[in-house]
Amino acid sequence: MLTLKQELQQTNLQLFAHQTPELVLQRFDSTENGLAHNEAQERLSVFGENEIREQKQESLLLRFVKNFTHLMAILLWIGGGIAFLAKLPQLGFAIWMVNIINGLFSFWQEFRAEKATEALKKMLPVYAHVIRDGEEVRIAARELVPGDIVILSEGDRISADCRLLKQNNLRIDQATLTGESHPMAKETNAIAEPVSSNLDLPNIIYAGTCVFSGTGEAVVLFTGMETEFGKIARMTQSVSSDLSPLQKEMQQVTKMVSLVAVLVGLLFFFFAFFLAHITLAESFIFTLGMIVAFVPEGLLPTVTLALAMGTQRMARRHALVKKLSSVESLGCTNVICTDKTGTLTENKMVVRNIWLPSLGMESSKSENGVEITTTGQGTDTNGKLNFAMGKETPAYRSALKKLLEIASLCNNARNVFVVDSDRANPTRSILGDPTEVALQIVAEKASIDTQKLHKEISRVGEIPFDSYRKCMSTYHRIENESYLFTKGAPKEILDRCSRIRIGNEVFPLTQALYAVVLAANDYYSSQGQRILAYAYRAVEVSSTQMINEGLEVDLTFVGLTAMIDPPRPEVAQAVKKCHTAGIRVIMITGDYGLTAKSIASQIGLISSEDALVITGSDLEKMTNEELKNALGHEVVFARSTPEQKLRIVTVLQEMGNIVAVTGDGVNDAPALKKANISVAMGLNGSDVAKEAADLVLTDDNFATIVNAIEEGRAVYENIKKFTTYIFTSNTPEAVPFIFYAFSAARIPLALNVMHILSIDLGTDMVPALGLGAELPEQGIMQRAPRKLSDHIITKKLMVRAYLYLGLIQSAIAMLAFYFAYWTNGFWGQFIDLPDSGPVYQTAVSMALAAVVMTQIGNVLTQRSERSSVFSIRFFNNPFIFIGILSEIVILLAILYVPALQGFIGTTGLSGNEWLFLICISPSLLIIDEIRKFLRNRRGSKYLSK
Ligand code: ATP
Repeated sequence: MLTLKQELQQTNLQLFAHQTPELVLQRFDSTENGLAHNEAQERLSVFGENEIREQKQESLLLRFVKNFTHLMAILLWIGGGIAFLAKLPQLGFAIWMVNIINGLFSFWQEFRAEKATEALKKMLPVYAHVIRDGEEVRIAARELVPGDIVILSEGDRISADCRLLKQNNLRIDQATLTGESHPMAKETNAIAEPVSSNLDLPNIIYAGTCVFSGTGEAVVLFTGMETEFGKIARMTQSVSSDLSPLQKEMQQVTKMVSLVAVLVGLLFFFFAFFLAHITLAESFIFTLGMIVAFVPEGLLPTVTLALAMGTQRMARRHALVKKLSSVESLGCTNVICTDKTGTLTENKMVVRNIWLPSLGMESSKSENGVEITTTGQGTDTNGKLNFAMGKETPAYRSALKKLLEIASLCNNARNVFVVDSDRANPTRSILGDPTEVALQIVAEKASIDTQKLHKEISRVGEIPFDSYRKCMSTYHRIENESYLFTKGAPKEILDRCSRIRIGNEVFPLTQALYAVVLAANDYYSSQGQRILAYAYRAVEVSSTQMINEGLEVDLTFVGLTAMIDPPRPEVAQAVKKCHTAGIRVIMITGDYGLTAKSIASQIGLISSEDALVITGSDLEKMTNEELKNALGHEVVFARSTPEQKLRIVTVLQEMGNIVAVTGDGVNDAPALKKANISVAMGLNGSDVAKEAADLVLTDDNFATIVNAIEEGRAVYENIKKFTTYIFTSNTPEAVPFIFYAFSAARIPLALNVMHILSIDLGTDMVPALGLGAELPEQGIMQRAPRKLSDHIITKKLMVRAYLYLGLIQSAIAMLAFYFAYWTNGFWGQFIDLPDSGPVYQTAVSMALAAVVMTQIGNVLTQRSERSSVFSIRFFNNPFIFIGILSEIVILLAILYVPALQGFIGTTGLSGNEWLFLICISPSLLIIDEIRKFLRNRRGSKYLSK
C-alpha cells in the first residue's frame, strides 16, 4: 500500500487520463466491484481522511495581538503613557487595564463566534456513493480512498479526483475550479494527445466540482490535499472574513461615536482649563475620562458574538446559516418563494391509486378506467394492491404489471447499504428521490422483486429527468428487443404518445381517449395527489450516443399512478405566522396546477377560490408588467421551470421585496444565487443547492424558515437592546463632569475616570451579553419586516439611551451623590462640598452604586421595548440573571474589597444608604414600565377604533 502511495506522489493526473479505464483500475488494484471493505479501511489509514485541511493564515497569536494594536487601542496605550508622565500612575494603570481587559474580551468573543461558525460547518455532512464488495454503499465523503469506485448522479458534489469509467450524458460544472460556467461534457476514452492544463482533462472528474446532469461511475485517484482542488486551496486559502453590513455599520458607529467622544473631550478640556481654570493635569483627566467613557470599544465584538449566538440558536431549530450576514437579511425577508414537494409537504410519498385505461371508457359515462388502490404505510413494503370491484381480469393484471415494471426500471432509487459513521450495522434501504422510492415500494407490494428485475433487465442508457421536459426515460434490452421506458408528468407524457395500451391490446390514442386520461389526472390532482404517467416504445438504436430526447416520441401510454404527499402538519401554522408577520408566501412548483392549488388551499396559502394559478406556459406569455399585476393577487405558480423561478424572484425584487427562495435541484442554483436569502434542503436537496444556499434546513421543513426569520429578527432586536443598554450609562458618566466643569469645580466630581471604567468594563459587560442572548419576543412575528436600509443606530435609539434613560439614570446618581452629603453633615448644600475625605468617598460610592443598580432595572426593561418586563417569559434567558448577578458581585467587590477600595477610591455603605439606593434605583424600570403601559393603551385604543 505504501508503494501505491509513493507512486501516486510521483504521478500526475495526465498519466491516468492517457490510460484506458481497465488499466487504471488495475493500477489501483480495484475492479468494477470496488474495493473490499477491509482493503478500504487499510487504505484509509495509509492515505488519511479525504479532507481539505484549512490552513489558518493568521496564527492565533497574531489575531490575539491584533486586538491590542488597532487604532483605538494605540490611542489608549498613548493616553495611559501620558498619564504616567503626568505623574498620575493610577490613571495610567487604569487606562492600560481598560485596554487589556477590552482586548481580552474582544478576542474571547471573536474566538467564540468563530468556533460557533466552525461547528455549524461540521453539521453539514457530505456523502459519497461507492461500490464496495460489489454492493452500493453510502459513506461519508471523508472516508473515500484511492481505488474506490464512486457512483455519480445529478447534483452530486464530487469529493475526490477520479478517472471516469462509465458515463451517461454526464456533464460536470467545473466553475469552482476553472471559473468556466458552462458545464463540461465528460467521456471515458483514454486521451491520445497531451493536454496543457491538468484541469482540462476530459475523462477526469475533479474534487470540488458538481454533476450538472447525467450519471456515471469513476475510480478515485487522489484524495484530500492531493487533489487539484486541495492544491489550489493550499495556495489560495485565506481567512476571508468579510464583515456583514451590520458589522460594518457597527464599525462605523464605533468610529463616529469615538470621534464625537474625542471632540466632546476636547471641548471639556477647553472649558475646564480656560473657563473653569482647573489645572492642566486635572483637565487632562477630564478629556481622557470623556473619551474612555464614550468610546464603545466592545460593541463590534459583542455584535459579532450576538450574530454567532443567533446562528447557534437557529441551528438548534434546524436552520444552518452559512454566513453571519444572512442572519440580518433573514430579519428583513418579506416574501418567501417556496417549492412544494418536500418543503410544504412531507415528501413521504406513498402511491395510493393506480389508474389504467379500460375498454369503452371514451364512449361510456359510467366506465372511467380501472382503479387500483393500495394499502400500507410509508416506506414499508408490506401492503396490498386491490382492483376496483369486478375489474381484476388477466388483461388488466398484465397491464398493471407492465406499468409497475416501467415504474421500477425507469427509476434511479437504489437499494443501498448505508454505513453509519460508527461503521456498525450497515442497514439496507431504498435511497433516492422520494417519488421514485415510492414507485419501487409499490412494485414490491405487487410482489415484484425489484432487485431481481433490475438484474434481469439491465439498463443500457438513460435520458435523465429534467424539470423542463418533466419526464425521464431509460433504454433496456429485453431478450432480443430494445425498449424505451418513460415516466413523467401526465400531460407531457400524453403529448409524446400516439398509442394507448388497454389491457393487453394497443390502440391509437384518440382525442377522446386523451381527454379521458386527462380527466382522470385532474380528478386525482384536485385531491392534492402527485400524478405520474408511464409509457414505452420498442426502438432499436445502434449506439448509446443515440439515446436522447429525440426518442421520446410515438410512445404507448400505459397508465397513471397517484401518490399522496400530505402537507406537513406544522406548515399551516407557519404560513399563518408569516401572514401576521407581514411575510408573503408564494408557491412556485414544478407540479401540476390542480395539485398545487389543492395543497396551497389546504395549508392556507390561498384563501379564495379565485386565486390565480399561473402555469409555466401562461407565464411565458406574460410581460413583466402583467406578472407584477398578477403578483398583486393570491397566486400559485405551477409547472414552472427553474428559469421562470428566477424570473419571478427578479420581478419580486424589482418590486422592492426582500425575497427568500427555496430550491433543491441543480437548476435552482441561479434562482438561489439571485435570492436575498437562499434556502436549500439538507435532507433531500442536492449538494449543489446546499452549496449555493445561505441557509440549509436540516429537516427540509418550511416551518423552519419561519423560525429562522423569527431568530433573525430577534438577533437584530437584541443588538438594539444591548446597544441601548451600553449607551445609557454614558450619560450619568458624563453629567458629573458637566456639573464639575460648569460649577468651576465647586460641585465635586461625582464619578471619576476609575469609576467610569469599572462600570464600562466591569459591571456593564456580562448583562450586555445576556441581552445578546435574548430569545425572540412574543410579538416579534406580529410586526412588519424591517427594511434592509434601516439602520440599527437611529436617532430614536440615541435619544432613548442618552436623553431619556440616561438622564433618569443621571438624576438618580446625582441624588444618591447628594444624599450621602446631606445625611453626613451637609444638609441642603449643593456646592462647595468636600472633594476628598470619607464623606466624598461615600458620596462617589453612592453615585457609582446608583448607576450600577439602575442598570439592573435597565437590563430588565431592555428585554422588551414594547411589552412590560413582567409580561414576557421572565426566566427564559438565564444569561440575564447571570449578568445581574455579575453586576451585583462586581459592585460589592468594588465597594468592599480593600484593595479595590483603595485603587478605585470607594468605600462601604451604611444600611441607610443601601435602603435609599434600593428605594430609588427601581425608578428607571418603573418609569419605563409606565411609558410602555401608556403606549400600549394608546395602541389598543387605536386598534379598537
Ligand atoms: P417542487 O418544484 O415543488 O419541488 P415537483 O417536485 O413536482 O415540485 P419537479 O421536480 O420539477 O417539481 O417535477 C415536475 C413534475 O415532473 C412532477 O409533477 C412529476 O409529474 C414529474 N416528475 C417528478 N419527478 C420525476 C421523476 N423522477 N421521474 C419522472 N417524472 C418526474
